Amino acid sequence: MDQIKIGEFIASKRKEVNLTQAELAEKLGITDRAISKWENGVCMPDAGTIPELCKILKISVNDLFSGEIVDMKDLEKHAEENLLSLKKNEEEMNKKLFFAVNIIGFGSTIFFVAYTILLMLAVEEESKYILLFIPGVILYLLCMFAALALDAAAGYQECKNCHHKFKPTFKTIFFAQHMGYTRRLKCPKCGKKTWCKKVMK
Ligand SMILES: [Zn+2]
Repeated sequence: MDQIKIGEFIASKRKEVNLTQAELAEKLGITDRAISKWENGVCMPDAGTIPELCKILKISVNDLFSGEIVDMKDLEKHAEENLLSLKKNEEEMNKKLFFAVNIIGFGSTIFFVAYTILLMLAVEEESKYILLFIPGVILYLLCMFAALALDAAAGYQECKNCHHKFKPTFKTIFFAQHMGYTRRLKCPKCGKKTWCKKVMK
């Protein structure tokens, strides 16, 4: 709250309604020293005086605290802008998550295939081969599990029937049939089981 700005605003509005400090003070039943203090930004009108003051100056309480006439359309526009930037942030976050899913998913698959081929070429003893192969499988499964968890956190699945977008749980994603990131899921809105596309918005 900018007291100086509010003070100047009170002074200009007082002059607009053709009142002196003394006249305004009289209407409010307070001293003109108090008015002078507000207008110089020394202090704010007290809560009990504010409604009557706003009425006399023909402003809203919102205007008074802003130190200017607040356009309701501007307020709405501002709220919309905030909402939009919030959505954009979420979208960007989702894109980053999805990128991580791809890196982990494809990266670990390539690594696993390469590791398996390397083992086949380099290790002749069967017992040794199995001993080295098992950690590879475990690591691969862990990576896929992590990728799936991230995938569940990023974006939404879109119902093919009613185009409702929803966030399925990790469990439903884990057990769902899938082709890439398109999954066969039951829509929570229309209840139909369709191939749901993955969307980021
Ligand atoms: Zn649906």
